[in-house]
Amino acid sequence: MPVGERNEAVTVVGAGLVGSLLSVFLARRGHTVEVLERRPDMRREVIDAGRSINLAISTRGLYALRQVGLEEEALRHAIPMRGRMIHPPKGALMYQPYGRDDSQHINSLSRAWLNKFLMSAAEATGKVRIRFRQRVSGADLDQGVLTVVDEATGEERREEGRVVFGTDGSGSAVRQALEKVPGFESTAETLGHGYKELTIPPGPGGAFQMEKHALHIWPRGTYMLIALPNEDGSFTCTLFLPWKGPVSFESLDSPARLEAFFEEQFPDAKALIPDLTQAFFARPTGSMVTVKCAPWNVGGKAVVLGDAAHAIVPFFGQGMNCGFEDCTVLEGLLGKGGDWETLFGELARLRKTNADAIADMAVENFVEMRDSTGNPRFLLEKAVEKVLLNTFPGEFVSRYSMVSFSRVPYRLAYEVGAIAGGIVSELSEGLTRAEDVDLERAKRLIHERLVPFMKEH
Ligand code: FAD
Repeated sequence: MPVGERNEAVTVVGAGLVGSLLSVFLARRGHTVEVLERRPDMRREVIDAGRSINLAISTRGLYALRQVGLEEEALRHAIPMRGRMIHPPKGALMYQPYGRDDSQHINSLSRAWLNKFLMSAAEATGKVRIRFRQRVSGADLDQGVLTVVDEATGEERREEGRVVFGTDGSGSAVRQALEKVPGFESTAETLGHGYKELTIPPGPGGAFQMEKHALHIWPRGTYMLIALPNEDGSFTCTLFLPWKGPVSFESLDSPARLEAFFEEQFPDAKALIPDLTQAFFARPTGSMVTVKCAPWNVGGKAVVLGDAAHAIVPFFGQGMNCGFEDCTVLEGLLGKGGDWETLFGELARLRKTNADAIADMAVENFVEMRDSTGNPRFLLEKAVEKVLLNTFPGEFVSRYSMVSFSRVPYRLAYEVGAIAGGIVSELSEGLTRAEDVDLERAKRLIHERLVPFMKEH
């Protein structure tokens, strides 16, 4: 059936962040949407929203929300983070702004709030029905068949005849069903690090106990701690640590070792986490995975989007942003009409290379965050980058600003970012202060290397 036909019933698997937003887009195009979600309704029952408690939303994610009129309300609940606050093991804090000025910032938002908000927005269209405790356990996508288990009764049934959108996250059952399609390829690389969430509670009267408008980082080489602010004055801290090794989740096996480790490495954070030992040993340790797969669709019968198609590690704060951008691109294609098979093929053609690029940048950013952010040379280069961003607006661009503050395709951001990074590195050679950067030389390098590349693309 041509996608332009209104009222076609479709199925979305997974009412997470991407599935819920996707349902809004599909409903606005006239489709009737049935969403199958394995968890109970988090608006009625207190359940763990899974993974991170809060996350950073930036330009790409906000743009998708704006398209369906949800940006303003989301921003009312968000806390702008204008830069990184670096906490060295000893000595004063260091602040690095993210953009050329405060208008360029990322935003900390509660995952649970956003997920509930999007589910309600989907239902408010009048065309979306979310069925909770419905787990897809298998599928024959070629035949358009889903096997669904009702988690409340344990009964299994078949659902068929509808186009399927798999937005069921990194462990996607829909993607696993795609694996049966001849020629399908998929890789899942788990990181040698896990993560644990801890909480810095609000101070007296709901006060923030650290700088509110920053993403806090304690870079320590092979591991790090980060913290993002929450609306109630608390911070959610995430400790990223190797699974095994001399300093690892394996080695921190007793309260005494844990306390000593925090005292030595993160003394300021330790002073603010009253229940450190209890929380550390009670809370689960999360794992992180990069998933790449192709193709993303089975003809016009099924497609995967969001983490189901491209789970990435969280170090660029882009997983959800990238999934929301999938929805923006899909929306553009829905506007063109045509059949589902053409649309899904085009979606994958436009998105796959970009999803792969942000996946690779996210892994690279892990090294930058845990290793380099505390290093004086890195700080100097960041300062030089800021001088160039301000002196050559529209000509000089950085990878971070393209990824976080623009909708330039990720692939382009990756390539242009590498050229820009090379220029910064050359200009920083032998410098001790960013203000002394040779602007004439900078202008020459930017015009020789960056401007032609950007014109070509
Ligand atoms: P999910 O959010 O995983 O949702 C999948 C949904 O499908 C869930 O509701 C699940 O219950 C349901 N489901 C799963 N299997 C089935 C099944 N078989 N049948 C029915 N339903 C099913 N991204 C950012 O943009 N910014 C950040 O700052 C950021 N920080 C992060 C920090 C951490 C520690 C982690 C782990 C991730 C972070 N991310 C961040 C990435 C972000 O969480 C994901 O990219 C995003 O959640 C993907 O949304 P999704 O809807 O595709 O998948």
